[in-house]
Amino acid sequence: MRYEKPTTVEAASALLAGQGARVLAGGTDLLVQMRSRVLSPEVVVDIKGIEATRKISKDASGYVIGAAVTGAELKEHPTLSKDWPGLVEAANLIGSTQVQGRCSLGGNLCNGSPAADSVPALIAARAVATIAGPKGTRELPVEDIMLAPRKLALTTGEFIVSFKIPARPKHGGDAYLRFIPRTEMDIAVVGCGVALALDDGGTCTAACVSLGAVAARPLLVEDAGKALVGTKVDDAALAKLEAAVRAACKPIDDKRGTVEFRIDVAGTLAKRTTLIALERAGKV
Ligand SMILES: Cc1cc2nc3c(=O)[nH]c(=O)nc-3n(C[C@H](O)[C@H](O)[C@H](O)COP(=O)(O)OP(=O)(O)OC[C@H]3O[C@@H](n4cnc5c(N)ncnc54)[C@H](O)[C@@H]3O)c2cc1C
Repeated sequence: MRYEKPTTVEAASALLAGQGARVLAGGTDLLVQMRSRVLSPEVVVDIKGIEATRKISKDASGYVIGAAVTGAELKEHPTLSKDWPGLVEAANLIGSTQVQGRCSLGGNLCNGSPAADSVPALIAARAVATIAGPKGTRELPVEDIMLAPRKLALTTGEFIVSFKIPARPKHGGDAYLRFIPRTEMDIAVVGCGVALALDDGGTCTAACVSLGAVAARPLLVEDAGKALVGTKVDDAALAKLEAAVRAACKPIDDKRGTVEFRIDVAGTLAKRTTLIALERAGKV
């Protein structure tokens, strides 16, 4: 196995275009999979030498977060937790303090698990990934990147450089909740991210609801968002949201939860997540 640490996007893409190459960000999934021989890459391409993958920048249009920025670094940023608390909380549910010092948003998404915690929060925030590859750079909404377990929309040589997160709306709020059988260090049985915006009178003008662990890929549930728009997020709207969420779920049946259980929990979790996002939006 060869280890490479390029310092430019172009050099990384060229290395990744070669046979048997794999991106390394924090390594909290990759190294575990290499040790257990699930993966045996010939070349490991550490993207942390590329500045754009390691920084967070902010301007009037929002944030650009490097794909290899760690969960701990997201939390330490001076304004990100105020603007997008749900996203920061989701990233900081990943593993333990030690894992949070290494794990990244890019790795969480590209590991290709439907239960990845930060992905529904990214989707709810309408995050767009900037992808670099041998043919240049392109952008893709996060909900279009994971297609099935371990299957991504990235082609050979491509990797995620960063994520664009829009500026938080004036009366905007987001939240992420997951259901796990233990209190921490567990994989989501259901995860839910919600981001919404209100007008000055408290009517919902935009809402985005995303679910993890209830289908082969993280879901953007358009009907759940539509159920809130134009309402004061009252009981009737929340009942419609719950129904839309449950209708979208196509979970597996396993020892962590039956199909019926996951569908039931998803509706309740989406309602609770929405109420936290609403509170954060200021309930004007
Ligand atoms: C003890 C423990 C507990 C955990 N708990 C949780 C949890 O609660 N919730 C959860 O969601 N996950 C959990 N995980 C999984 C893991 O920590 C996360 O998925 C993490 O976000 C992966 O990020 P990373 O930077 O370490 O990725 P890496 O291990 O470096 O990479 C993961 C995969 O993504 C690819 N990759 C990485 N970055 C990119 C990129 N920018 N572009 C393209 N491909 C890329 C790699 O090639 C690899 O296949 C846990 C892991 C451990 C060891």
